[in-house]
Amino acid sequence: MKSIFESLTWHEIQVTSHAASRHIPLAYGEVGTVGTRITLVAGTHGDEGPWSALAMKLLLRHPISNLKGRIRIIPTANALAAEANTRNSSIDSPNSVDLDSCFPGNPQGSHTERLAAHLAPLIADSDVVIDLHGGGSWCVNAFVKRFEGSEELATAMGAPFISNAPNKPGGLTTYARSLGIKVVNVEVGGRSGAEMFWCNQIVSGMERALYQMGVLALDTPPATPEPSMDVAGIEVMRAQVGGIFVPTVREEGVGKLLPAGTELGKILDLHTLEELQVFAAPHPQTAMLLLRPQMCVVEGSALMYVIAKPAQ
Ligand SMILES: [Zn+2]
Repeated sequence: MKSIFESLTWHEIQVTSHAASRHIPLAYGEVGTVGTRITLVAGTHGDEGPWSALAMKLLLRHPISNLKGRIRIIPTANALAAEANTRNSSIDSPNSVDLDSCFPGNPQGSHTERLAAHLAPLIADSDVVIDLHGGGSWCVNAFVKRFEGSEELATAMGAPFISNAPNKPGGLTTYARSLGIKVVNVEVGGRSGAEMFWCNQIVSGMERALYQMGVLALDTPPATPEPSMDVAGIEVMRAQVGGIFVPTVREEGVGKLLPAGTELGKILDLHTLEELQVFAAPHPQTAMLLLRPQMCVVEGSALMYVIAKPAQ
C-alpha cells in the first residue's frame, strides 16, 4: 500500500520573481478529501526550513489507509530565502521583507508580499495550522509558542519548553488565528550534532497532534511525552562586541534548565584573541530556549541566546 507521502498530489504556484527565471515555484502537496483540514508549513524563514521539511516527509511514512482527514504540506514556503540560507530573501530590495510579517500579503506588492498572498488562501483553507520554524543554520532551539484556544496542540508537540505566543502583526499564525484556525508555532531543532534527534521530536509531536485530532489512525497510540515546562519572561542575550564566539554549552544544553553562573560561551577578539565577553546563565533556573552550538564569528549585537524562567 502507498504511504501518505506517496499519495500526495503536488501543485505548483508561479510566484513573480527574478528576470532570469521569471517565476519561483511555491509547491504544496495535498492528500485526503474529508475530515479535519491540516496544513503543515515550513520555511517561512528560509534558513529554518530544511529540518522541518524533512520531518513532514518522515511523518507521512504511514500507510494511506491510516489517514482520516486532509493534509496539506508546504515544505518550503520561502524558496529564495532557503537557497540563500537566510531568514528573508534578498529580492525585495531595497528593504528586506520578513514573510512572517506580511500576511495576508499583497498580490501587487514585492516578491515576498506576493508570496504571502499566494500562501494566505492555503492557510485560510485549514482547520489546523502547524507553523514549523526552528533554530536553523546558526542556532538550535527547543520550545513551542502556545496560542489561546489551541493549548492542546502546543502540549502535543512535546517540546521541552512552552511559552505564551506574543501577538505578531502580519504573522502567519496571527493571520490564521484571526480566521479561527487552531495554530501552533514550533521552534524546535536546527543545525547541530543532534539535528536528527530534534527532527524526530518534531515528527513525534506532529504524530501525537494528528492522532489526537483523529486525522491519523495508529495501531499503537503515540507515547505520552515528558510534560513541557511552562516558561515566561523570555529574554534575548546579545553580543556586546563582535568577535570569535566559542560556545561552552553546546547542543546538549538546549531545552535544559541551567543553574545561575553556568558559563555558556565567550567571545574572543577577532584580531588578538583577547577574551572580550563571557556569557553566563543569569537565573537560578535558566531555561535555554535557543543557543548557538558551534563556533562562529559574530557581529556586535548578534543574537546569542534566548532564555526564560520557569513560569510561576
Ligand atoms: Zn522563524
